[in-house]
Amino acid sequence: MENARLLIVEDEVDISNLLKIYFSNLGYEIETAYKGGEALEKTQSNLPDLIILDINLPDFDGYEVCRQLRGKMRTSNIPIIFLTQRDERSDRLQGLELGADDYVTKPFDFDELKLRVQGAIRRAERERLTDPRTGLPSGRLIEEQLREVIQKTDWAYLDIAINEFESFSEVYGFVAADDALRFTSMLINDVLETSERKGDFLGHIGGKNFVVITSSEKSKALKNALKDKFALDIQSQYSFTDRNNGFIQVPDKNGIVEKKPFMTFSIGIVDPSEMPIADIREITELSVIERRKDI
Ligand code: CA
Repeated sequence: MENARLLIVEDEVDISNLLKIYFSNLGYEIETAYKGGEALEKTQSNLPDLIILDINLPDFDGYEVCRQLRGKMRTSNIPIIFLTQRDERSDRLQGLELGADDYVTKPFDFDELKLRVQGAIRRAERERLTDPRTGLPSGRLIEEQLREVIQKTDWAYLDIAINEFESFSEVYGFVAADDALRFTSMLINDVLETSERKGDFLGHIGGKNFVVITSSEKSKALKNALKDKFALDIQSQYSFTDRNNGFIQVPDKNGIVEKKPFMTFSIGIVDPSEMPIADIREITELSVIERRKDI
């Protein structure tokens, strides 16, 4: 996963700093918290992809943090890796009972921790039912929808990607980028709601990719409506200056500034009345091919 966000909860500043430096260098976005309460607040305000959680914290312990996160739907699926002391065997058991995904014992090996972090994030992505940023159905739920729809004849699958999302994130930062994704999900939802047929499916594959399943008849008009509305409304996510310019300025690694256009949609349609579909993998593969033609 590119730029996964880690929350490091550790009151020992030296360890916290080492973890921060190590995982930043690997390309992760890092937040730190030094107390349990702070960890809960930071998790609520900005959902991490994984939490590295020390057991002994100054206010309340890591178990309590874990228990509270697991108790709330929004945070219940965030992978947690506990940091435990070598002699705290019972810690591990209690942690695993609470639904910690893994634990490492201090003093820990950074490379081992890295592998555990990567593994836990991968597992969580596979199992994830909804996207944490938009709350839309994701992963397995999209797959289930496809299995159902492939039995039928009248349907169309729209593969939607946001062009220039990376340049927007680069200039405006990941918080604004997450906001833009939420904005996008609401915009697609609005367009679906105002169209005649209710009951279209909207999912978030992850990152800048969305999917809509609608009727064959409606698909092309829907595609155009989505592209038009997005191109217009997404401008509200840009600064006044950028809107006036009609472009954004993105510096590359060497500091050379490049002009980049605003975000737009590319949409690929897969419709079984236009091409034979054998299985659900074909739907997703063909839709990517179709989408790439739509620039
Ligand atoms: Ca501690």
